[in-house]
Amino acid sequence: MKTYRIACIPGDGIGREVVPAGREVLAALAAAQTRFRFEFENFDWGGDYYRAHGVMMPADGLDALRGKDAILFGSAGDPEIPDHITLWGLRLKICQGFDQYANVRPTRVLPGIDSPLARCGPGDLDWVIVRENSEGEYSGVGGRAHQGHPIEVATDVSIMTRAGVLRILRFAFRLAQSRPRKHLTVITKSNAQRHAMVMWDEIALEVSREFPDVTWDKELVDAATARMVNRPASLDTIVATNLHADILSDLAAALAGSLGIAPTANLDPERRYPSMFEPIHGSAFDIMGRGLANPIGTFWSCVMLLEHLGETAAAAALMGAIEAVTANRALHTRDLGGSAMTADVTQAVCGLLSGK
Ligand code: NAD
Ligand code: MN
Repeated sequence: MKTYRIACIPGDGIGREVVPAGREVLAALAAAQTRFRFEFENFDWGGDYYRAHGVMMPADGLDALRGKDAILFGSAGDPEIPDHITLWGLRLKICQGFDQYANVRPTRVLPGIDSPLARCGPGDLDWVIVRENSEGEYSGVGGRAHQGHPIEVATDVSIMTRAGVLRILRFAFRLAQSRPRKHLTVITKSNAQRHAMVMWDEIALEVSREFPDVTWDKELVDAATARMVNRPASLDTIVATNLHADILSDLAAALAGSLGIAPTANLDPERRYPSMFEPIHGSAFDIMGRGLANPIGTFWSCVMLLEHLGETAAAAALMGAIEAVTANRALHTRDLGGSAMTADVTQAVCGLLSGK
């Protein structure tokens, strides 16, 4: 029997509720078959760790993760610590340290869940957003000087490299090619950002020639928000820069019913390092510690984790259980208009997986 070593990093806020729920579901899945088992290791990094040690994770933290087959992550973000410290000190440290340059974010209207879009029929909203996850607007390059003085200056420089753009666009075209529609929309802003985004467009055209069977179009990011609302069925696979895709994917999640159901995979497609799977939502300060969090985004992230490990049958079984649970409105959490608790949803999914 195969053993997969999984690092669990709940982090902060509702991450500490949904990651244990995800672990429970993975354990139930493993117990129901004999192909593989999981060996979990929990890491208590995050806001409390910061209060005790002055850092979000230990300096050699990446070494503890390096040998894992995958990482299940919750959220970085604490009400008492500035967001740029929590994000850069934990999540981005792992994403960048392990060169997880492809951030994959599927969105679909699951059974039993209503899209706020009146004009959205079944199957109209079935997207995968590919987010560049290693450079662009979140490269971390920039600085501040003369703080507090009238001449204070601050910059965040967006870095786009040919190598970085090539690899994410190739990844996106390949992903589009693997989906039934074989269609890719390249998000840009080359009308206003006249250097890097123009190079982005040029490289998209170059890469498109490697994928003659994939149809593709280009959309300015502002126009893309309107297209997502007005013509959801015209989109399938979408690729965008770090910042653009960050924003578009929260919109996508809301259009599919709730931020609480949306999953994401931070992939190192070359598999030099472990990849990291997490719900797209954050710490949700307004509901943390109350058992109200929707764990579906984490469970769907576990589906992506299983797919990454090559366990396609287990992934399909988990997705089936998730869909059976969302189809039952009595099991909807508060964000979906219901009154079920995190534990109710978790128990229902585990029950289906273990045949009880
Ligand atoms: P958020 O995702 O935490 O919350 C936005 C809204 O969505 C809140 O009203 C929240 O209650 C609701 N929500 C989110 N997930 C939910 C779930 N699973 N079930 C039910 N409701 C849910 O975004 P925010 O308020 O912008 O950020 C809060 C903190 O989280 C900040 O510190 C931020 O930096 C951090 N954050 C971290 C990550 C990450 O680590 N990947 C991502 C986003 C935000
Ligand atoms: Mn985000």
